[in-house]
Amino acid sequence: MRTHNLGYPRIGSRRELKKACENYWAGKISLVELLQAGKRIRLENWKSQQEAGINLIPIHDFSYYDQVLDTNLMLGNIPSRFLPLVQQEKKSFPSLYFAMARGYQKGDLDITALEMTKWFDTNYHYLVPEFYRNQTFSFVCTDVITEFLEAKQLGINAKPVILGPVSYLLLGKEKEQGFHRIDLLKGILPVYKDVLNNIEQAGASYIQMDEPCLVLDLDEPAKQAFREAYHYFAQGCPEVKILLATYFGELTENLPLACSLPVDTLHIDLVRAPEQLDDVLKQIPDYMSLSLGIVDGRNIWKNNYDISLTVINKAVRALGEERIWIAPSCSLLHSPCDLDLETDEAVLPEKVKHWMSFARQKLNEVSDLSKLSASQPDKETEDRLALNRKAHQSRISSSFIHDPAVQARISSIQDKDFERGLPFTDRKKLQDACLNLPILPTTTIGSFPQIKEVREVRAKFKKGMISKKDYTEAIKTFTQQAVKIQEEIGLDVLVHGEFERNDMVEYFGEQLNGFAFTQNGWVQSYGSRCVKPPVIYGDVSRPKSMTTDWISFAQSLTEKPVKGMLTGPVTILQWSFVRNDQPRSATAMQIALAIRDEVSDLEHVGVRIIQVDEPAIREGLPLRKSGYAAYLAWAVKSFRLATSSVRPQTQIHTHMCYSEFNDIITSIAAMDADVITIETSRSQMELLNAFINYQYPNDIGPGVYDIHSPRIPSVGEMELLLNKALNVIPLNRLWVNPDCGLKTRNWEEVLPALKNMVQAARNIR
Ligand code: GLN
Ligand code: ZN
Repeated sequence: MRTHNLGYPRIGSRRELKKACENYWAGKISLVELLQAGKRIRLENWKSQQEAGINLIPIHDFSYYDQVLDTNLMLGNIPSRFLPLVQQEKKSFPSLYFAMARGYQKGDLDITALEMTKWFDTNYHYLVPEFYRNQTFSFVCTDVITEFLEAKQLGINAKPVILGPVSYLLLGKEKEQGFHRIDLLKGILPVYKDVLNNIEQAGASYIQMDEPCLVLDLDEPAKQAFREAYHYFAQGCPEVKILLATYFGELTENLPLACSLPVDTLHIDLVRAPEQLDDVLKQIPDYMSLSLGIVDGRNIWKNNYDISLTVINKAVRALGEERIWIAPSCSLLHSPCDLDLETDEAVLPEKVKHWMSFARQKLNEVSDLSKLSASQPDKETEDRLALNRKAHQSRISSSFIHDPAVQARISSIQDKDFERGLPFTDRKKLQDACLNLPILPTTTIGSFPQIKEVREVRAKFKKGMISKKDYTEAIKTFTQQAVKIQEEIGLDVLVHGEFERNDMVEYFGEQLNGFAFTQNGWVQSYGSRCVKPPVIYGDVSRPKSMTTDWISFAQSLTEKPVKGMLTGPVTILQWSFVRNDQPRSATAMQIALAIRDEVSDLEHVGVRIIQVDEPAIREGLPLRKSGYAAYLAWAVKSFRLATSSVRPQTQIHTHMCYSEFNDIITSIAAMDADVITIETSRSQMELLNAFINYQYPNDIGPGVYDIHSPRIPSVGEMELLLNKALNVIPLNRLWVNPDCGLKTRNWEEVLPALKNMVQAARNIR
């Protein structure tokens, strides 16, 4: 039995890479210093993996920005708009590389970056490869070889990791009509062959080809592409042993395909899809080894050794020890680096921490499991098994996790708790009567510019540098200013501005039972951007009201309605590390109850409009269509549970940050929010197509102002978008608002843009 790893966090345990990149971009450090920082992180990562006893250590999993971008450069896929950079600077690596990632503006050159999108269902974002019809490829960036030699010199038993050709193509986008990107396979294969042969010559015995697309719904041409690619490698590079890595889900109907490919080893994800093991053991051909992805690469909980050992032993019995590998389920890129850095009991209590495991600890788990499944584990490993059992035992019975009051409430939920009482059309009449808004009501999505002064006040308070009283006064002043400005601009429905919130999930998590936080639990989101998700470890409940003070304060300053502003259950779930001892849907219902209490409290203090943001509903969709219905059912239910306690007069809003809606629009409608605001201005109201085929029943505010750009849209532009919207949405159901919250903008942009927006609404009225 052997152990290996699929990939290690590249940001560095103290976010060294983030700091190095940002300093380099700001001109504060040189290219040499940046490259040194990268090298230090790689060495440290290799060393930790070696120390943990991992037999085969991944290399080329490192990247200064993104591994898909690196693949573009490896294959010479550089869109022509970047060519001036290649020509201008002979040593083109840094400017070209970061230009593709972040765009380039200097002198006459203004080049847009590659598009960015989510990596499967993770919170990591990759840069989308662009494809053109008659494109050619060549082996341009040879980092994979350089890194392999670097590792070899240090005595590291290294396994180069590259993104496989089929997933690479499938993850990209055609930028020209008249072809499908999968047609480019023929052109790309010789380059891959070149890469493989070079790696082999450098002395690598294994190479990991990531083909995560094997867990998606595939059409016939894609399946054919897999066959063609891997048979081509078997013939063209017979010496190279390929480990074909699949992760994030089950192979299902693609299993026979995967088992038919001439590769040395198949890696499967047994955390996301433990049920696939039996079929794999039955279908895997004799010549193929099996890598068991058994330690969760996507979450922060300790592995359960007893359960894992049962699985490993079963596989060993079926295939024999020589054919079995043990590994994390996927790259550890999606885990925080090192739990040992969590030393502050006040942030992460020991009683939660001892259930957890980050990337470094996960490697020890892989190694322990391999030793424990050998016939005679050493004493130390046996002791660790005992400790592991103890940790899991304590989780089952901990009163810290299990709250009978929460469970009692969950079991007493009734059907009527998901219903608003009256249908929308009747609610609307009552709401119109008590809100008395003009047609085309204007509003914003919640946050106002989080300028430096705002962030400083919060940070000082957190560090204990200013008193609670001073903090509250300061935030009150920001809120007062925001209300005054909104009145001056002439908006109809106001917001308090969210100045007290650092983050829309963390703010609520910090006030709820069942949540813990970390000091250094950073995970890469994109480029140098990292997130530190809260940890939901136990039953969720709300000890006391979380937002009423701020909303009441804002409401006391104006006659206009101020929206109560909350984050919805699915978004809180989606942007946290979630407990794995109960289904996600069960945790979502608990959060929904907590939000429901908050919604009721807001209503009781006189708030007439309550917005429950659900920007993450779409990203929670399962990878395969067959899973959509079940997910959407509980996602919608949790939203309805959170929002249905109020009187029909109280208006519920929700907000979503995207416009690809067509496939889920009936579920969005089933949420039954009175008003939904969504992103659309960037796509020129493309979203409205969804509304041509489907009569969305409730009120809707398609964003008319793109807040992602510093541009100030003109009155005319926004009028045009509104008129476009009026072609499909009836006048009495259309709202006027920006695309999203304004916290990333500054007031110099926001003021004129909102004035123009209000003017556009007035003109049409
Ligand atoms: N109310 C939040 C804000 O305005 C919504 C943000 C979001 O949807 N991502 O900031
Ligand atoms: Zn948004």
